[in-house]
Amino acid sequence: MSAPVFDVAIIGGGTAGCAAALALRQRGMSVVLLEKGACGAMASGTNFGGVRRQGRDFREMPLATRSRALWDRLPAVVGEDCEFRATGHIKLARDEAEMAELERYAREARDHGLELSVVGGNAVRALYPWLGPKVAGASLCADDGQANPRLVAPAYARAARAAGAEIREFAKVESARWTGSLFEVDAGPASARARRLVNVAGLWGGEVAGWFGEGVPIRPLCPNMVVTEPLPYFIDRSIGVCGGNVYARQVERGNVIFGGGRGWGDAQAGLSRPRADVARDAMARALEILPQLRDARIIRTWTGFDGEMPDEIPVIGPSLSTPGLVHAFGFSGHGFQLGPAMGEILAELVADGRTPSPVEPFSIGRFASAPPAPRLT
Ligand SMILES: Cc1cc2nc3c(=O)[nH]c(=O)nc-3n(C[C@H](O)[C@H](O)[C@H](O)COP(=O)(O)OP(=O)(O)OC[C@H]3O[C@@H](n4cnc5c(N)ncnc54)[C@H](O)[C@@H]3O)c2cc1C
Repeated sequence: MSAPVFDVAIIGGGTAGCAAALALRQRGMSVVLLEKGACGAMASGTNFGGVRRQGRDFREMPLATRSRALWDRLPAVVGEDCEFRATGHIKLARDEAEMAELERYAREARDHGLELSVVGGNAVRALYPWLGPKVAGASLCADDGQANPRLVAPAYARAARAAGAEIREFAKVESARWTGSLFEVDAGPASARARRLVNVAGLWGGEVAGWFGEGVPIRPLCPNMVVTEPLPYFIDRSIGVCGGNVYARQVERGNVIFGGGRGWGDAQAGLSRPRADVARDAMARALEILPQLRDARIIRTWTGFDGEMPDEIPVIGPSLSTPGLVHAFGFSGHGFQLGPAMGEILAELVADGRTPSPVEPFSIGRFASAPPAPRLT
């Protein structure tokens, strides 16, 4: 008996891919998802856990707003608590120039439906007495939040599987091609055929696009992450700073997670490592805004691979070379928040050929003259 032809094959089991698998099953399409490792083990599971709209490129705001509504409904959608908490997100200014930047962004954000409240130095310390004297002011987005990244993509994968999607883990796709009537996806014993193909392969999405003659200038992005021992709970907001060189949050069990700067990564070899010098610099900056971390012990540092585009916005939308192929990759360090919306948007693009979300700015066509991305491990 010959193998079935699926309606859709998905390459990549991050948040975007697993959410798409569930959304496509909910539309009655047959789905096979191929993931070279375990679902959610790459960027979707190693990230900082920030679920924020504040600070985003305004072109992403409609997608981020759509996603924000889905985060509230996540436990009902996937049947599990992924520790999403709408703690609010404060972005801090450390001098007058940064304060002006916060005010400018808040003014423009209002036109994009995002209400921020900006307060100066004394008011910010009255609101958050645990902030250090270096803080000159802050901008609060009250309904931003944070979630546990280790839980989200696996929860979507389990929900998709329960809804009838075929989730094939440890199934690396070596190549894929369009025969003119369907996609042949070569993954050894996990190989599959499908009428449509979704490329949500994260950093490796550039390589997958290259199989279909579409070049993109994607590069590895490895944010450097640090976590402390559990401390008494005191940071009740997620925190960022202008310029992004340090950010922090405290989980309910007490550990303070913070990041800043970049780790080391060799995407050809598939290896990434946090850097001690970068972690030390981030600690110094974290201490300026959170002096109570002074005696905290660091228990772990890590990094991971995301794909970064030169304009720092992702590639989302139909392939321009191959009918039935849809891309969503290169989230440039901020795709975790977008994951739930990406599931719905990809399902719309695949099933209806269009989405009400404005994805035109993310077309792969903006890189029409780029050479093919290199082959990675
Ligand atoms: C350290 C770090 C911190 C971050 N912090 C935040 C944050 O606070 N907030 C935020 O919004 N975003 C953050 N990000 C970015 C965010 O994690 C990513 O943008 C997002 O998770 C991308 O999801 P994805 O599903 O597109 O990709 P991924 O999670 O990378 O999933 C792609 C999957 O495709 C698989 N794959 C690739 N090639 C193949 C193949 N040939 N065959 C089969 N499978 C394949 C990979 O194994 C991988 O599992 C951070 C990223 C990192 C690395």
